Amino acid sequence: MKYISTRGHAEALDFEGVTLAGLAPDGGLYVPESWPRFSAEEIANMAGLPYAELAVRIMAPFVEGSLTEGELRELCTQAYGTFAHEAITPLVQLDEQQWLLELFHGPTLAFKDVALQLLGRLFEHFLSRSDDHLTIVGATSGDTGSAAIDAVAGRDRIDIFMLHPEGRVSDVQRRQMTTVLSPNVHNIAIDGSFDDAQAMVKRMFVDAEVTGKYRITAVNSINWARLMAQVVYYFAAALQLGAPQRKVAFSVPTGNFGDVFAGYVAAQMGLPIERLIVATNINDILHRALSSGDYSAGTVTPTAAPSMDIQVSSNFERLLFCEGGRDGAALAEQMRGFEASKAMQLTNSQREGSAALFTSARATPGEMTQAMAYAAEHYGQTIDPHTAIGLHAARAAGIDPSVPVVTLATAHPAKFPDAVEGATGTVPELPARVGDLFDREERYETLPGTYEAVRDYVVQCATPSA
Ligand SMILES: *Cc1c(COP(=O)(O)O)cnc(C)c1O
Repeated sequence: MKYISTRGHAEALDFEGVTLAGLAPDGGLYVPESWPRFSAEEIANMAGLPYAELAVRIMAPFVEGSLTEGELRELCTQAYGTFAHEAITPLVQLDEQQWLLELFHGPTLAFKDVALQLLGRLFEHFLSRSDDHLTIVGATSGDTGSAAIDAVAGRDRIDIFMLHPEGRVSDVQRRQMTTVLSPNVHNIAIDGSFDDAQAMVKRMFVDAEVTGKYRITAVNSINWARLMAQVVYYFAAALQLGAPQRKVAFSVPTGNFGDVFAGYVAAQMGLPIERLIVATNINDILHRALSSGDYSAGTVTPTAAPSMDIQVSSNFERLLFCEGGRDGAALAEQMRGFEASKAMQLTNSQREGSAALFTSARATPGEMTQAMAYAAEHYGQTIDPHTAIGLHAARAAGIDPSVPVVTLATAHPAKFPDAVEGATGTVPELPARVGDLFDREERYETLPGTYEAVRDYVVQCATPSA
């Protein structure tokens, strides 16, 4: 399988190449040259497979040429062996139409573990082949940081530097990062905001003093391998609900458009999906783009669902490419316009192509709280604020009553105890396996909010590339 850039100017790479690269050198995102497609019979034959085996079936065409089926199976078995539920992503029925797909049974209690547990192992596998060393640099306001750290802690060929804004992540989220004491994990609290941290990371990726000596990469959802791993649970859920004979709709709490794009990929591969509901909060650029074609960034309003508080959705570019005739030169032009003015209009083909599968809905903070209370009262389920936005959208989307609607439960409620308690009156308990989080030793470096301070620290601690 070959991968091409959405902006048309980067060399095509194989799976190993795109996994280690992250972003394409022309600023675009990698997508497969064409979508592998399963017949209805092939999909029917996947029913009942254990999750790791299903993952091998779905991902095999994407890794072809870079991993043997045996290597892929080994990596999937290890990655999904870290989950605390036998089904990996169990499906829970709420009523006749509504279902929850619990994606939070991984080590750090958010859906990002599903992809990052595999990505950490893919990195290690490819690096040992080339006898190289990787330096991961990222900024986090919450879930990505802890999931990435857990995925690479203790791995010989990888150093990870994770920046967080001092005093502005929750205690649970900070401790999930800072209590990992492996020598290759470097947590940095910076004196500044998340945007300051993010700007430092971006600058480091174009700083020749860093890139000349270290192989640096990102672990955010622009990395194709993450999206690929997320395609699997769409198949897993739909198969349980009767696919391929029966269509299923999904409601996806959305920020960077990575998770819901994985649903789009599942549809391209032949899974019969009735609708993909893009659920946003009041930071609703995607809702506006999908409902009226207006993709224009405003300012971010902080909410109780921080992983959805964004104004630019990186992975949306992949959809615009695929539904805009796969014209890299035209998309590069469109994205240049967006980067200059922070606004753009979707073309007719992008709008119509998206409308064939996507619906969107937006939840206010009040609607999010009501959805948490409703789930507790009517379904006996405690859900987190992100999942609540998904459930609100699922119930508001007007899907035909004969079609099951699956809301992706993206985080464990115990990650957001204050919001959950405010809505339901009950404090959600941390699962026993992470219950001693508040007794563990923390370690992190506090640095001033200047780029030079952070860069010098990274250069001093990282291992140069081969
Ligand atoms: C990251 C995250 C999201 C958003 O997912 P995207 O792939 O960025 O759209 C939603 N909910 C939770 C809990 C998350 O951690």
